[in-house]
Amino acid sequence: MAMHELQSSRGASRIWRLFHAIDDDGDGWIEAVTLVEVLARAGFETDDRRLAGLFGRLAERQGARLDFTAFLAVLGADSLIFERVVRGDLAVPDFASFAEEMARIFAEAAAARGGRQARYVAPLAEVNPERFGLAAVTVDGQILRLGDAGVDFSIQSICKPFNYCFALEEQAHVGLQRDAVHRWVGMEPSGRRYDAAALMEDGTDRPYNPMVNAGAIVTAALIRPGETVDERLDRVRRLWALLTGGDAPRLDTRMREAEGRAGHRNRLLARALAEAGAMPGGPSATPESVGDALGLYFGTCALALTVTEVATAAATLANGGICPLTRSRALRRRTVRDCLSMMQMSGMYDGSGEFCLRIGLPAKSGVGGGIFLVVPGLMGVCVWSPRLNAHGNSVRGVRVAELLAARYRLHAFDPPAVSADRPDPRLSLSAWRAAQTARALWAAGCGDVQTLDGLLNQQVDLGRGDYDRRTPLHLAAATGHMPVIRLLLDAGVDADPIDRWGRGPLDEAESGGHAAVVALLKAHAVRRDPRVGSAERELQPQQALDFGDDLAVAELLWAAAADDLDGLRRLVARGVPLHAADYDGRTALHLAASEGAERALDYLLAHGHPIDVRDVWGATPLDDARREHHDGTMARLIAVTRSPTDPD
Ligand code: GLU
Repeated sequence: MAMHELQSSRGASRIWRLFHAIDDDGDGWIEAVTLVEVLARAGFETDDRRLAGLFGRLAERQGARLDFTAFLAVLGADSLIFERVVRGDLAVPDFASFAEEMARIFAEAAAARGGRQARYVAPLAEVNPERFGLAAVTVDGQILRLGDAGVDFSIQSICKPFNYCFALEEQAHVGLQRDAVHRWVGMEPSGRRYDAAALMEDGTDRPYNPMVNAGAIVTAALIRPGETVDERLDRVRRLWALLTGGDAPRLDTRMREAEGRAGHRNRLLARALAEAGAMPGGPSATPESVGDALGLYFGTCALALTVTEVATAAATLANGGICPLTRSRALRRRTVRDCLSMMQMSGMYDGSGEFCLRIGLPAKSGVGGGIFLVVPGLMGVCVWSPRLNAHGNSVRGVRVAELLAARYRLHAFDPPAVSADRPDPRLSLSAWRAAQTARALWAAGCGDVQTLDGLLNQQVDLGRGDYDRRTPLHLAAATGHMPVIRLLLDAGVDADPIDRWGRGPLDEAESGGHAAVVALLKAHAVRRDPRVGSAERELQPQQALDFGDDLAVAELLWAAAADDLDGLRRLVARGVPLHAADYDGRTALHLAASEGAERALDYLLAHGHPIDVRDVWGATPLDDARREHHDGTMARLIAVTRSPTDPD
């Protein structure tokens, strides 16, 4: 097929945009390895079974350069996923930044060496206490692995939420509802130790919930009661494989035997349940069925998985029951919702309440040192490190959860608006920054009191500056919008913020000749001489492209300022014109020049960004580079400028 035919079909023109986006130097060729890197940065490694075809075709062209036709051939049927990767249409669009932050969190948590590993059975006592693995898997199957992420560990109590799911599913298969399970096990936090013998005092004599041992023995009893323990365990392992999208978990037989030998307390619990008529079957439950339930519980505690597998199972929970790696439904939605509710209330032993307040995510831990967390709709995370705190939760695991909650906006009960203190991994950093500033600045610039009022109600910080430290008050003062200025001052924003050029709103009002605004600002204690150099700035008509999508423009300028190549690629792939300008006529090239962002600058120039763009004060990107003394960007701009506007 000829190139023009390829480009004329709609699909091909979209793919052309992708090609253009990752052809950083704009020469019409892409290294095959660039595609591998792009995929890896988005969380898709070469061992990813889903992309075996694509990685196979790329391996055949190892070391080769691809033109557009070859690029199309390599992508083949996988162009859709590649498009989502480059455009950032994935659960975590900026996976590379997320991975960097997680690596920092991992390193910080590694320093936590307190606590003691479990020693009640030899196979747990023998584990190297320094083991530390972390994996995160998103609902789009992006995978992050750190440390011992590929090493098997004993899941122990992590089996409990899954056994609960399996019990619910088994009942559903035979046409029964959730009540068939909860007839035997409660749904209340126990407020007691995980191995307490206490039963609910509401007259039902049920264990409090499926996350305590008594409850887990009951849920085990509900999984395929008519079959042998081994058959039931095989069934559980097959169900796990649906959740992880991979192999069945290994059964650590030595661990199972040791659990059985050491499990006096669990035997006591099972006997107490049977005595109270609280085992499924009630008073007619046989000693064999009780023993089998215990045996199945011990067996499921002795399953061994990697944190990557458990994180994938957690991602299946985050994804409403569909495994992100296979796209097959492993659990019904209702089952997942019940399980997550239970984990939220009771997943972290007798530290569950505090964990819920501080971290705000459903989680479950086990005595083997594993902890997994579910961020509904986003991802699953699993950490393994054997040393435990006084509640029996992995010290490093809890530390990772704390750091995650401190760095990212993930708490289930955070207010819905974008918050300034923590980024949200669901947004790229530039999109997050844009979301905080762009709407307020555009609204202030055009006198839109209503929008600002709405933002204020959402507790958006209206004093926040953009990539040039321009604030809504600067914009409103420059244009003389009194109602906006009043609203901003009433909202308590700083009356004298200073932008990149050292200008405050008072300077703006003075050079705009807005006497009433000047008076109002002075009444707010802004009393100073106009900033040096500001008086001679004359407002110029805007020449750069006025693109309709304000948020996309802000994202573009933030990405350029941060020298964020992935961010620029995402915008090109989405069809955002790179030379779009903001409310001050500022373009991505201005920002790259101002911040000395050389990679971004090269990228913009290679993608045809005009160099003679001027902001509202008449400054070109070269003027910016000069003013901020960025020799690298200055030299590049001079090299491509035939007639510099202001030769030295
Ligand atoms: N096998 C352990 C028990 O039932 C698991 C305990 C746990 O991980 O909390 O005692």
